[in-house]
Amino acid sequence: MNRGSLTAAAIKDKAKELGADLVGIADGTLMDQYPPDPENPRTPSMVTEYDGKRVIVLAKRTSFATSRLPDWDDQNKFYGDELLLSALEELALDLIFWLEDSGAPALIVPYKHIDPLRFQFESNERSHHPLSAEHAAVEAGMGTLGLNHQLITPEYGPRVILGLILTSAEVEPDKKMDTALCLGPECGRCLKSCPADAVQHWDRDWPACDRFKSPFGFPFLSDYLTSVLEEPKLEKKIGMLRGMETSELFQAMLRGSGIVTGCRRCADVCPVGEDYEESLKQWVDEIAEETPEKVKRLDAMQIEEAAGKLPNSYEHQKRWIGSL
Ligand code: SF4
Ligand code: SF4
Repeated sequence: MNRGSLTAAAIKDKAKELGADLVGIADGTLMDQYPPDPENPRTPSMVTEYDGKRVIVLAKRTSFATSRLPDWDDQNKFYGDELLLSALEELALDLIFWLEDSGAPALIVPYKHIDPLRFQFESNERSHHPLSAEHAAVEAGMGTLGLNHQLITPEYGPRVILGLILTSAEVEPDKKMDTALCLGPECGRCLKSCPADAVQHWDRDWPACDRFKSPFGFPFLSDYLTSVLEEPKLEKKIGMLRGMETSELFQAMLRGSGIVTGCRRCADVCPVGEDYEESLKQWVDEIAEETPEKVKRLDAMQIEEAAGKLPNSYEHQKRWIGSL
């Protein structure tokens, strides 16, 4: 087989045969043209100048059993998602060698890794990944971004884990959806359920979310080790090193659960997706985290939208949120 005989359909069939639930192909040159954050661009050509012409986006759905667990920090959820991420990485690797055997070099992007060159510990900035998988998925026609910029797919709503492959196979890319799948502030279930209260009007407080999305991530490790070093009493210092936090960190680092996986409460309660009515609604309909203040904020958003006012955050992300 040579590169010329590769088609988008053949790549998608192979990805599904290997275990992907959803797959789309984005045009890397368009992603270069429209970085999600122009002030901090992360685009395919910045990852590789050779193989960024197409971005294959793979998705596996999360399990219904984990989505039904009500606590955002349930270890079974973290662990289940970590296993899914590993399965997705393995299938991506198999797809890469199949692509290369077909004449098209390809590269996995570790999109859950934090880019160390952009990490500013003291600035309380959000963590940055080499490429936004959510924006790539929108460009690949797999869904649109929601009120809090989570990816929503028609099949599974936001309940998917994503993987990215860059390739030089210049096959036909998919087209972006034009209309938003999100139901907006009238729904607002992501905002009501968020333990960090990070969901805003077509925006998200990313640093606040990061502490829940990656509860045992680098900031936790660094803060904890600093507190141990700063403890003046040797006995207490040793107690801290043998305490619960160290044990949690040890387990998290062993598998990555609680580091590359974490809170996804906003995804579990989102009513969009063919899976929702039958497999989830009866278990996640009630939202224990709802408060009168959150409902009031959602009401204010609806009033603004009814008056034709949309926040700048919507305008900046309109390409990926879609028209309302
Ligand atoms: S991942 Fe968790 S903390 Fe972040 S926006 Fe969703 S519900 Fe809130
Ligand atoms: S929960 Fe509702 S408001 Fe939030 S992303 Fe889903 S559809 Fe949109």
